[in-house]
Amino acid sequence: MSISALHQIFQQFPTICTDTRKITDNCIFFALKGDNFNGNEYAESALREGAAYAVVDDKKYAGFDKVFLVEDVLETLQELAKYHRNHRAAKIIALTGSNGKTTTKELIFSVLSQKYKTVATVGNLNNHIGVPLTLLSIKEDTEIAIVEMGANHLKEIEFLCSIALPDFGYVTNFGKAHLEGFGGIEGVIKGKSELYEFITTHNGIAFLNADDPIQWEKLGTYIHKYGFTQNKKDYYKIEFLKADPCVSLKVEDTCIQSHLIGSYNFTNCCAAIVMGKYFNIPLDAIKLAIESYVPQNNRSQIIERNGRQIILDAYNANPSSMKVALENFNKLKGNPKIAFLGDMFELGESAATEHQIIADLSSQLNIDKVFLLGENFGRTDSPFTKFKNYDDFKSRFKDFGLPENGKILIKGSRGMALERLLDLL
Ligand code: ATP
Ligand code: MG
Repeated sequence: MSISALHQIFQQFPTICTDTRKITDNCIFFALKGDNFNGNEYAESALREGAAYAVVDDKKYAGFDKVFLVEDVLETLQELAKYHRNHRAAKIIALTGSNGKTTTKELIFSVLSQKYKTVATVGNLNNHIGVPLTLLSIKEDTEIAIVEMGANHLKEIEFLCSIALPDFGYVTNFGKAHLEGFGGIEGVIKGKSELYEFITTHNGIAFLNADDPIQWEKLGTYIHKYGFTQNKKDYYKIEFLKADPCVSLKVEDTCIQSHLIGSYNFTNCCAAIVMGKYFNIPLDAIKLAIESYVPQNNRSQIIERNGRQIILDAYNANPSSMKVALENFNKLKGNPKIAFLGDMFELGESAATEHQIIADLSSQLNIDKVFLLGENFGRTDSPFTKFKNYDDFKSRFKDFGLPENGKILIKGSRGMALERLLDLL
């Protein structure tokens, strides 16, 4: 079956499902394969549960009713997404970067949907499956689609751009994340810049943080750009006011108070503001959009509990985001301060060094006690106490007599699931 024929059917049945536990009536089921499953095995049950059609690549289904047998289900999904994108008028904004993609995406969505019919990546679905699904969520009347793109190795962003064909691009930052797959920070810069390269060669517009020296170097000579700055001439000026703990900023005499903790969220807000400006959204609507966005999902949340203020940033961690989170915690007023730090994953050969740097940094800051959870941190001298994992901490935490007041920071990689600490605190 051709992609255009499949697309006609998709227009009648515009919901895609890839998980038989989440089948909705009249969806099209795509039988994807993973490391531990083969969607082909679930095609019949998807149809029984209400799917209108199933797209499969196992030849045993040849001749079955309501089944499209294709060469490769994943490639078909990607081609369908590209075809769909090419047949819709919506402008595509793609964003990538080491940290802050989802937060920035949600802020941009909040701002742009003040005026435009906007869709955006759901949650964190930012890979070779998530990007096609986001594109396929574009409706006939959608004006702007915001597509988060994640990558842990080179050429991945280039590939995602070849499907999404973005008109606009923004890189949140270049940091120490997925060092293993990119082979070091130079690889990260190269990999994330694939978005700006696509934009440059396809006459799109690059949004940029004009104060970031790496973006500046990448985009300095390129004419189609629209940036924000604290002090450079010719770019849109946004002033950082403070982060105590949430970011506030000033733009054209308007003060904006966000619900986002930490000065690192300043640039995330700026990106959304500058895009709002570019798309002619009035500043009072931009202010409303930023001020009404409250992060969810263990991402930089503030929780008041039993007399303590807890900064829950347990969604993920890498050396760059760990460093800014600690520096931000350092600046907050009100001791005692306790940090719970979990292992950072996917660092390859740099793992030992990067954990050491973070431990050394935290010992120099205004933090009274640091609990290290996981296998990767080496230090055990004051202010550190080390635990093998969450369960180890859970079995011993009563011995530590945590203070009844003060501030707590919780941060670690997703696999550490440190939000479980909330059950104990
Ligand atoms: P993922 O790779 O999981 O998709 P992401 O890039 O979407 O992550 P977010 O989920 O928005 O990032 O934020 C995750 C964490 O990264 C935040 O809780 C915060 O600790 C940190 N972070 C957010 N923005 C920045 C930034 N601009 N610079 C450094 N760290 C940041
Ligand atoms: Mg994300």
